Amino acid sequence: MKNWEAKLREITPYVPGEQPDFADMVKLNTNENPYPPAPGVARTMAELSAGKLSLYPNPEAKPLVEQLSKTYGIEADRIFVGVGSDDVLGMIFLSCFCSERPILFPDITYSFYDVWADLFRIPFTRVPLDENFRIRKEDYFVENGGIVIANPNAPTSVAMDLSEIEEIVRHNQDSIVVIDEAYVDFGGESALPLLDRYENLLVVQTFSKSRSMAGMRIGYAFGSKRVISAIYAVRNSYNSYTMNYPSILCGAEALKDEAYFAGTTKKIIATRERVKQEFSGLGFSFPDSKTNFLFATHESVPAEEIFTMLREKHIFVRYFKKPRIDNYLRITIGTDEQMDRLIGALKEYLDAKN
Ligand code: PMP
Repeated sequence: MKNWEAKLREITPYVPGEQPDFADMVKLNTNENPYPPAPGVARTMAELSAGKLSLYPNPEAKPLVEQLSKTYGIEADRIFVGVGSDDVLGMIFLSCFCSERPILFPDITYSFYDVWADLFRIPFTRVPLDENFRIRKEDYFVENGGIVIANPNAPTSVAMDLSEIEEIVRHNQDSIVVIDEAYVDFGGESALPLLDRYENLLVVQTFSKSRSMAGMRIGYAFGSKRVISAIYAVRNSYNSYTMNYPSILCGAEALKDEAYFAGTTKKIIATRERVKQEFSGLGFSFPDSKTNFLFATHESVPAEEIFTMLREKHIFVRYFKKPRIDNYLRITIGTDEQMDRLIGALKEYLDAKN
């Protein structure tokens, strides 16, 4: 080994879902929205001026933050924006979890949490979900350096009641409690109403799922003024221009179209409820999803076998070869047509096996 090689940082990175590109594919592996963003986004993109790209963007992402403030009724100085909620969460880990005590998150949850903890050398404890993949709130009533809970959780799709989230926040007023609400718009209960009562609460959301803009990379956090300004101070010590000019304007535009947002989320929820019925008929079981995906296991056929069979047909779902969940598939809810193709392929395969 060369001397410099011994000084390289070795870390096991987060592995995102693959982004295959086949004309005939059905892509249900990264919880993207099957519908396009609000029509105003396409108009805004067409009107962007290439000449403006020679200038740095507004470092405070003002048009976007002001629109978030209007849409959610929360003051602009209580909003942090970043390049997807991954960037927002990463900055929160870096700026809010600086104690010697371990931070807590579930054993089965978004697999980026332990990667950030490793990267920033934050001690952490994975708290086991119960046998039904539910978070037991009492497990979080212990000393800790911070708490991160995805609600609804991923990849399990299970949502917690707001009253239980509140108990966790109330019991932990010496720690920052982060609620990652990437999927909340598909039927979960947001913790936003708690913000005025708890200065230690951060609520993180994203444009990648319910707003159909994963490609734009926009995420945001709401919190107390004190915490938000601490996160900005860390970000500005690292990179002050994270939000680019197209994202700032297109993000602001997307928020203005509440009717479109309500319409597409409603369609996805309706498709999800139909797919639940079809899946039960095919011998799958799954927790009651409040997200845009199902976390399903089959009564007789191993998940990995189904994953491989679907992949060969260019139907992409997500499979995690990990303890407790290696017989489950995480399947994004697409359009009705996409789900019909999935269900058709499953029926054909399962019938042939019987
Ligand atoms: N939180 C959870 C629970 C997620 O599943 C994802 C999507 N991979 C993210 C955060 C990050 O999404 P984005 O960076 O696209 O906002």
